[in-house]
Amino acid sequence: MKDAQDIIPDQAVGTVVIVGGGHAAGELATGLREQGWGGQIVVVGDEAHLPYQRPPLSKAFLDGKVAIEGLLLKPLATYEKAHVEFIRGVRVDVIDREARAVHLSDGRSLSYTKLAIATGGRVRALPGEDAERAVAAPNFHYLRTVDDALRIRESLIAGARLVVVGGGYVGLEVAATAVAHGLQVTVVEAAPRLLARVTSPEMSAFFEETHRRAGVDVRTGTLVRGFEFDGERISAVLCGDGASIPADFVVVGVGLLPNVELAAAAGLEVDNGIIVDELCRTSDPDIVALGDCCNHPNPVVGRRIRLESVPNAVEQARTAAATLCGRERPYHMVPWFWSDQYGIKLKSVGLCEGYDRVVVRGVIGAPAFSVFYMNGEYVVAADIVNRPPELLIAKRLVGERPVVDPATLADESVPLIKLLPAAKSG
Ligand SMILES: Cc1cc2nc3c(=O)[nH]c(=O)nc-3n(C[C@H](O)[C@H](O)[C@H](O)COP(=O)(O)OP(=O)(O)OC[C@H]3O[C@@H](n4cnc5c(N)ncnc54)[C@H](O)[C@@H]3O)c2cc1C
Repeated sequence: MKDAQDIIPDQAVGTVVIVGGGHAAGELATGLREQGWGGQIVVVGDEAHLPYQRPPLSKAFLDGKVAIEGLLLKPLATYEKAHVEFIRGVRVDVIDREARAVHLSDGRSLSYTKLAIATGGRVRALPGEDAERAVAAPNFHYLRTVDDALRIRESLIAGARLVVVGGGYVGLEVAATAVAHGLQVTVVEAAPRLLARVTSPEMSAFFEETHRRAGVDVRTGTLVRGFEFDGERISAVLCGDGASIPADFVVVGVGLLPNVELAAAAGLEVDNGIIVDELCRTSDPDIVALGDCCNHPNPVVGRRIRLESVPNAVEQARTAAATLCGRERPYHMVPWFWSDQYGIKLKSVGLCEGYDRVVVRGVIGAPAFSVFYMNGEYVVAADIVNRPPELLIAKRLVGERPVVDPATLADESVPLIKLLPAAKSG
């Protein structure tokens, strides 16, 4: 590791251009310096802000507990010290691989020696009748950017009626924050249960119960088929079952689409994300991709996946920085995520799929407990509620695959660490 201050960029070394000014881009920019990149580093991002953290947008920032400055990944001074140049509020429109240049929306072109694509994703649009008119309504919101969060924050007025469309983590976190502000909240989810894509029926039931107890009207198995309007504003959300839910405002969180069009137009291989190898290399050896926009081979899960998480963006930034500096640092992270709702701090490890047994340490619904998912003798995933020390051990159980006895795993008198190979032999 080098101290960023030691480096004065040498034009002869060349330029890394990073496309996208989000979490992955911000980490990569300083990571490149730390790993010894001696040339120029230019980040082109279409948002006006320096790279910032999105997780608080549905949690502490929405709640008003964090100011915009508190969201920033790093202060400007850190990038300045590392001689990272930012071009903000400008899009990369074209990657010309032959000329090794990118063309920007402000008419400029930049030459690159190496290119990094960290374009993240955009919200999945709500399908259905009236969707276009709804998006134009001043009280209809998606949540991806700090500007989206600022608009939603203005609507958090006690007594207001909020309809959240989508019972995934983002939607549920918005619901929890709104309840804390005294709003009347309804969550409408098309699937038969909340969080269906990411966790087990047991955990879905736990979250549904938690939200109901907090006063949220949870409607699963319910499709949104349209909206009622009062002038430009939405006045109600119309459901497939005929229900009309009055709304002062609507927040929609129905998933993410990876921003891959730029890469695809440049002829890079794309399939639910920009295809990369374990070194974050795309099908062009001079171009890496990282973060939400890329699809990587995950050795822990045993197949290609695309992850939408901060730990993934950070880890891929480390791998991509090494690759661009000519070193090999293969990516082999155990996927993990977190969510905060009410006082519940959830940490999820692995992908909750392909399991044949659910093992609970403690009691689901207690102030703290953990749920492990096993396939045969192995732990493949875990949901850990308010037990932060178990996160590291769960990651090792999923990543190192020791043989685990379910009865011992369920036995809270046996410290979890005892299930790890070193602890067993020690
Ligand atoms: C409300 C919310 C809550 C979240 N909560 C959690 C959480 O609790 N835990 C967790 O792990 N993750 C969470 N996430 C996900 C996490 O924020 C993302 O995984 C992470 O931001 C991914 O970083 P990224 O750099 O790959 O993409 P992004 O952060 O999306 O950054 C990509 C950037 O590139 C820009 N861009 C795209 N195309 C171009 C172009 N052609 N030219 C220039 N710029 C371009 C985009 O505008 C964007 O600014 C949350 C996300 C949201 C929205």
